[in-house]
Amino acid sequence: MSANTPCIRSSVLSELNHCNIWLKMESCQSTGSFKQRSIGNACLQYSKQGAKRFISSSGGNAGISVAYMGNELNIPVTIVVPKTTSAKAIQLMREENAEVIVHGNSWGEANDLALTYVSPEAVYIHPFDDPYLWNGIAPIIDEVIAEGIKPDAVILSVGGGSLLSGISQGLKANSLTIPIYAIETEGTASLNASIKISKYVKLEDVTGIATTLAAKQVCENAFKISQNENIVGLTVTDEEALRACFRFLDDHRTLVEPACGATLSTLYDKKISFPSLTNVLVIVCGGASITLKQLLKYAEGNTPHF
Ligand SMILES: *Cc1c(COP(=O)(O)O)cnc(C)c1O
Repeated sequence: MSANTPCIRSSVLSELNHCNIWLKMESCQSTGSFKQRSIGNACLQYSKQGAKRFISSSGGNAGISVAYMGNELNIPVTIVVPKTTSAKAIQLMREENAEVIVHGNSWGEANDLALTYVSPEAVYIHPFDDPYLWNGIAPIIDEVIAEGIKPDAVILSVGGGSLLSGISQGLKANSLTIPIYAIETEGTASLNASIKISKYVKLEDVTGIATTLAAKQVCENAFKISQNENIVGLTVTDEEALRACFRFLDDHRTLVEPACGATLSTLYDKKISFPSLTNVLVIVCGGASITLKQLLKYAEGNTPHF
């Protein structure tokens, strides 16, 4: 359902940051992101409990993975997405035989309709707030340890906080108490806003090109982790995230969404100072709702910098 992904040492980023930068390539999952682990596990568990249909309202990687899992498990899938959803994402969902209904101008409107389809047999698959999701992500750390790599820090992107929740769980399971750098773009910084004032914040609005990170509020579990564990919140600009996508494409021949570029930019732009000789684990979360054409379009307004 989900694959063990390669963990490769990046020569370019290691040299830039004077330490060993290990890339956990979740972009190599069949659906292009770590959602294959989280959504993959949730769908599997609910199918074992007798689900006869999966319902989703995610216009992004979560929806794409629900569609994929429905196809694998022979369970019909209905996904309601807002009009703002990319043609690429809708195409990927339909290719997996999901029924895609385009409805409403925002995720909230699409989600309201999706919820009317939910029943005891038609199970709603949440994109980030469900322990089954986190259980699917935690083995990332087991895989890294099994390869003989002992990380001294982890860097990852935060949208709704399932990745943070799952990685934190994986670190605990392996008795590792190390800092996690939690990266958001300025327009999607719901966790960083909460960290700043030690309160569970809900943003009025989320903006910018990292649409995959656009949760107005992280799940409560992620907030609790940020209060009780060694979490360092950082924000980057859209432009920094975008530039990192282009550099990563050249350096590692892999196309990722700005949601992932946000994390990579902290290394390209040397925003974190690591003591030498440490092993830093970077979760390359990936993302399938991107094309080179779209990246170039984002870059249009910024030509002097590219
Ligand atoms: C879902 C996703 C994120 C954000 O993950 P959360 O668990 O919502 O914090 C980041 N990058 C990619 C590519 C994703 O698909």
